[in-house]
Amino acid sequence: MSSPDYLVAGQGLAGTVFALSAIQRGRAVLVIDPEESSTCSRVAAGLMNPISGPRLALGENEETLWNAASGFYRHWEAILEAPFFEERPILRLLTGADQAERWEKRLRDPRYDAWHEPLPPEWASRAPFGGFTTKRCGRLHTVTFLDAARTWLRQRGSFRTGTVPEDTAAVWCIGHELRRSGPFREVPIRPARGTILTIRAPEFRETRIVHAGKWIVPVGPDTYRVGSTYEWNPADAFPSLEAREELRTFLDGFLGGSWELINEEAGIRPMANRGLPFLGSHPTQPNQILFNGLGSRGSLLAPWYAGRLLDHLELGAPDQSDLTDPSDPRTN
Ligand SMILES: Cc1cc2nc3c(=O)[nH]c(=O)nc-3n(C[C@H](O)[C@H](O)[C@H](O)COP(=O)(O)OP(=O)(O)OC[C@H]3O[C@@H](n4cnc5c(N)ncnc54)[C@H](O)[C@@H]3O)c2cc1C
Repeated sequence: MSSPDYLVAGQGLAGTVFALSAIQRGRAVLVIDPEESSTCSRVAAGLMNPISGPRLALGENEETLWNAASGFYRHWEAILEAPFFEERPILRLLTGADQAERWEKRLRDPRYDAWHEPLPPEWASRAPFGGFTTKRCGRLHTVTFLDAARTWLRQRGSFRTGTVPEDTAAVWCIGHELRRSGPFREVPIRPARGTILTIRAPEFRETRIVHAGKWIVPVGPDTYRVGSTYEWNPADAFPSLEAREELRTFLDGFLGGSWELINEEAGIRPMANRGLPFLGSHPTQPNQILFNGLGSRGSLLAPWYAGRLLDHLELGAPDQSDLTDPSDPRTN
């Protein structure tokens, strides 16, 4: 390829969604990534949940984010010929009286009406503090998406294995590595390690995603992924004893001990304040561009914000500082 319009450093969710969005707008891209097997995006559960955190907050922009994300992934599923997006309800079981009280208050806000319906009867009887079914949510199979996009980009000569050197002009989509390399080290992302377990639980027999403080995602026959944890400023990306214990305690309480550990993984999320990603050009080096800080909601945020970054770069639209904050702080 002769000189691309955008050299993209990193092929996690941020780099992949940015690259595909730029291609949709007729731009030539070259994505460079070291192809490590365990990165934040590859470990992630990929949940897209508008009412995800313990505070049950619904962001101002949720409709826009969901429409952008679901439209983007469906569009690319057809082109990449891989199934990686599924719209699935999430059963939310409230975890205590405080949360039930908060939910009562939330329900006075009519914006919530479009996003929930009652729990199915078999779950209502198992939810002492009540709960609801979240609608218009789902899951991105991140590994399938990233692998399919990588193969497709490579076939077009738009992907190369490697690491982008420090001083190269690029769109920097390198997740938590931002603190260690590239021109945006000063940007205050906060690294948060998350651990996920994969378990076998033949007696659970649930095909929907269940969220009861921690989430349980069906991923195969009798097999589930369970997460997640938050450990700030971790020294490495390996599951810690504390995180494992936190998830074990949850599972023992929720499934009554009838489960078996198959695997455990961890990744480091690039968190930004107030859940708002960092995007835009470097203040003194305009050919250095940033797309980072997707936090715990990368699958839902990436398509909308990649589009806003391209609007900024191509049309001179204002950068993120002039956009509406899409969410309260929240966790997956
Ligand atoms: C346990 C866990 C569970 C999660 N669950 C969810 C969830 O359910 N839903 C959700 O939406 N989000 C979830 N997330 C968050 C989501 O994974 C992140 O928002 C997202 O992965 C961040 O993507 P990224 O591309 O910014 O970073 P990364 O995935 O870290 O990608 C950065 C890429 O850049 C590469 N790189 C680094 N340096 C260079 C360089 N110099 N040159 C080239 N490439 C480089 C890296 O190798 C990597 O491939 C979860 C995260 C964790 C850890």
